[in-house]
Amino acid sequence: MTMLARPVFPFSAIVAQEEMKLAMICSAIDPTIGGVLVFGDRGTGKSTAVRALAALLPPMHAVVGCRYGCDPAAREALCEECQTRAKSETLKDRLVPVPVVDMPLGVTEDRVVGALDLERALSQGVKAFEPGLLARANRGFLYIDEVNLLEDHLVDLLIDVAASGENVVEREGLSVRHPARFVLIGSGNPEEGELRPQLLDRFGLSVEVKTPTELHARIQVIKRRDEFERDKSAFVAKWKKQDDALRRKIVAGRKRLAEIVLPDEVLEQAAKLCMQLGTDGLRAELTLIRAARGLASYEQAESVDVDHLRRVAPPALRHRLRRDPLDESGSTVRVERAISEVLGAVQSPGAAELPGA
Ligand SMILES: [Zn+2]
Repeated sequence: MTMLARPVFPFSAIVAQEEMKLAMICSAIDPTIGGVLVFGDRGTGKSTAVRALAALLPPMHAVVGCRYGCDPAAREALCEECQTRAKSETLKDRLVPVPVVDMPLGVTEDRVVGALDLERALSQGVKAFEPGLLARANRGFLYIDEVNLLEDHLVDLLIDVAASGENVVEREGLSVRHPARFVLIGSGNPEEGELRPQLLDRFGLSVEVKTPTELHARIQVIKRRDEFERDKSAFVAKWKKQDDALRRKIVAGRKRLAEIVLPDEVLEQAAKLCMQLGTDGLRAELTLIRAARGLASYEQAESVDVDHLRRVAPPALRHRLRRDPLDESGSTVRVERAISEVLGAVQSPGAAELPGA
């Protein structure tokens, strides 16, 4: 079966929304950051951005016939079926696009995690497992539109699986496990009810997207969307160069991630920032550091510096703040204030390049 790829709106052609784009790119470089929660009104291109990013990434090698799309090169991460087969045959592989799986509202748990056929197990003694959406999302993206409308226990489950990289289904003493590594992208519409704080802070990053208020940006959004709708292939071709360059940067960033140096003084600043904001636990620091490292790697730096911290701090921290009855300013404002208190004010652009500076 050949899959004809439908033209997808190019990631590079997305106007503004820099924070969202950066958060998604960092997550694609380091999926252990813990996914991205995107807050914003309808029609701000949240789902477009996920699809665009997945389409931008290079196709993956996947084992032919594997229901989980195992990576033949990652021996230690193979599913049980591939492990068994690898003992007696050479696993064939093929190239597949990076999956984006949509989580429909009102979905059942069986559909998400997969279903064990207990009847067949009892009558025929075979472990019959019908993989669910988590199997399809392996090595790709799982997108939940309006995450606040999904049942809490499902959101909890998705975050658990995303964090462990493995889906375990247990029914009546039977159990099946399979790899399920994916980047969770949730979209939240602030008008549709709130997400429990306990769930909120389990997402790695959170970003806010808005319809551009600046005239020029608005016109760009409409122009590009219209151009894309009229001739999708031509529009994709026009942006190919930018998308190719971005792909190379992401691929290089993934390769270099493990080599990025994290100096103690940066770690110390990250901890100070979290203490200043009173975030609970160590998850905030860990996410902040990982996101900063992802950004450093993306930008081909050798080590993480304070500027990387400064730029990822708002998306890494703003959803982890406890409500302060004495401070009614928004969470972004509070994070930014803490950044300038702990990390100092931002240098004016270009100041670092001044001779003798
Ligand atoms: Zn497999």
